[in-house]
Amino acid sequence: MSLEHLRTIDPSIADAIDGELARQRTGIELIASENFTSQAVLEAVGSVLTNKYAEGYPSRRYYGGCSAVDKVEELAIKRACELFGAAFANVQPHSGVSANIAAYLVAAQPGDTVLGMSLAHGGHLTHGAPVSFSGKWFKAVSYGVDPSSEIIDMDEVERIAKQHRPQLVIAGASAYPRILDFRRFSEIAHEVGALLLVDIAHIAGLVAAGVHPSPVPHADIVTSTSHKTLRGPRGGFILTNNEELAARIDKAIFPGSQGGPLMHVIAGKAVAFGEALTPEYRRYAEQVVTNMRAMGDGMAEGGLRLVSGGTDNHLALVDLTPADVTGKDAEHMLERVGITANKNAIPNEARPHAVTSGIRVGTAAMTTRGFSEQEAREVGSLIARTVFERDDRVALTKVANRVADLAGAHPLYPGL
Ligand SMILES: *Cc1c(COP(=O)(O)O)cnc(C)c1O
Repeated sequence: MSLEHLRTIDPSIADAIDGELARQRTGIELIASENFTSQAVLEAVGSVLTNKYAEGYPSRRYYGGCSAVDKVEELAIKRACELFGAAFANVQPHSGVSANIAAYLVAAQPGDTVLGMSLAHGGHLTHGAPVSFSGKWFKAVSYGVDPSSEIIDMDEVERIAKQHRPQLVIAGASAYPRILDFRRFSEIAHEVGALLLVDIAHIAGLVAAGVHPSPVPHADIVTSTSHKTLRGPRGGFILTNNEELAARIDKAIFPGSQGGPLMHVIAGKAVAFGEALTPEYRRYAEQVVTNMRAMGDGMAEGGLRLVSGGTDNHLALVDLTPADVTGKDAEHMLERVGITANKNAIPNEARPHAVTSGIRVGTAAMTTRGFSEQEAREVGSLIARTVFERDDRVALTKVANRVADLAGAHPLYPGL
C-alpha cells in the first residue's frame, strides 16, 4: 500500500482540489444550497471510516467489526433527534434525493397520486417533476405560488388536494423565500387521507436553530440534506415521530434503496449535528436570515425585484426583468466579478429553463465566513451594479476589486 500523499500520487487531482479551494476562498459564494463545513467535519469525512462496510443499523449489522462505527451512528442519531425534537432519525441517506426515494417507498405505491410544489415555482425535482422517478412512477400533481403575491396560496393547495385526493402530500422547496405553513399542510394532507412529507433540505439549519418553524410536530415524515444551511457534509437524513413509520423508513433505506452506509459521512453528520446544537450555531442561523434581508434590500435599492417582494429565510429569488438581462447571462456576469450564483426560473417564467429570467442567491455560505449585515447589503448592491452596468468595464473592474477585498477580509480555511 502506498503511503505517499495525494500531491505525489496524483498531482492532477491535487491541483484540481487546490484550484477549488482557491475558488472558494477568493469569490463570494451565493449558491443558496451551498455552505462551508467546519474543519472538524472535513476531518471526519476524510477519515478511515470510508473503508468500513456496515450494512444494517447499530448493533444489527450484516458485517463484523462495527463497534466503532456503531458508536458514530448512534451519536449521529441521538444528536439529530435532539436537534430537531424528533423521536426517530435515520442518518444513512447518501443525499437529499436518496432520503426522498426512501420516503416514497414508505408512503406511496407506484401509480399513487402525489401532490408537491411544482419545479417551476420552486419545488424540487423529486417532488413530482416528469424527468424524475417521482414523476415517472407516480401520478404527480402540483401546486404553485399565487401569480400576483408569488406566495403559496394554502386555500389553493387545499382545493387541489381535495380534487385529486393524493396518497402523499409534499411540502418543501429549493427556491422559495417565504415561511412554510406546516400546520396547514398537515391539516390538508390528513383531511384527504394522505401522509405529509416535509422536505427541509434547504432550511434544515434554520429549523434546527428555531429561525424557521419546525415541521416535526406536523409531518409524518421529514427528509433533509445535511449540507445546505445545516452546514454538515454532503448527505441526507430522515426524521419521524411515528414508531411504525420509523421502522418502515429504516427498511426503505436499507435494504430498500441503499447498500452500505457512508460511515465517514455519517461521522461528519454527527459532528455537524453537535455543532448545530450550540448557541453559536443559533446565532449563525439568525445572522443568515438578517444578512439575506440586508442583501435583498441592497439588490432592491439597486433596482432589482425580489420575487414575492422579499425574503423570510436564507435565500432570495431575484427577478432580473428590470435590468433586461437573462438568468443565464447574469450568472456569467457575476462569475466574472467573483460572485457565484445560479440562474433560476421565476414564477410565470417566460424563458426556457436553461435561460430563465432570474437568479437565486443565498447567504448561508457567506455568513459562515463572517460577513456582516452591512457587507451583505453591499454585496446586494454589487449584484445590481453588475447586471445594470454590464457594459461598463470600469464599473465592473471596481465591482470585481471590491468582491476580492470582501472575500479577502474573511479568510476561509486558513489552516488548509
Ligand atoms: C437539494 C434538495 C434536495 C436534494 O438533495 P441532494 O443531496 O442534492 O440529493 C432535495 N430536496 C430539496 C427540497 C432540495 O432543495
